[in-house]
Order: sequence, then C-alpha cells, then structure tokens
Amino acid sequence: MLECDKDGLLRPLHPQSSGPENPRQLLSGVIEMKMNAREQEQYRQFRQEHRQHGVRVERIQTGIGVKVVVRCRKCDKEKDITDYASW
Ligand SMILES: [Zn+2]
Repeated sequence: MLECDKDGLLRPLHPQSSGPENPRQLLSGVIEMKMNAREQEQYRQFRQEHRQHGVRVERIQTGIGVKVVVRCRKCDKEKDITDYASW
C-alpha cells in the first residue's frame, strides 16, 4: 500500500498543485502513483466530499491490473476510482 499524499502533490491542503500537468516531476520517486485523468477526476470528487477529513489513495495489485482506491481517513469510506477502461 502506498500513500499518495506523501509527495504533497495530492494533499487536500494544496489543491492548486494537484494538476496533471507535470506529475512526473512532482512525483519523483513515486511515479507509479500517477493517476490518469479519469482517476484524478474521481479522486478530486471524493476528496471534495471528504475535504474536512482527509483522504488517502491505495493501489491494490490484482491478478489483472492495479486497482486504485481512495479512502477517507475519518469515516473510512472507500471508493474504487480505477479507470478500468485503461486496462
Ligand atoms: Zn469522510
């Protein structure tokens, strides 16, 4: 499990820095955490709903690909934001 907010890119407190423009640079060392546009959109939506709680992103390796799940730190709700179309 990896936490997406360690790099600061996806921290709820810095929404202005979470653009998809140069994730490679910002995510140096955790490039595998890069989300595609659809996943980012879903992530932002979930983050917005839980903006006072804080969310984290988990990547789950499955037999056929990597699932992306976003989870609220407070209510422990989770949402599968995997873009299965990209598999
Ligand atoms: Zn919540």
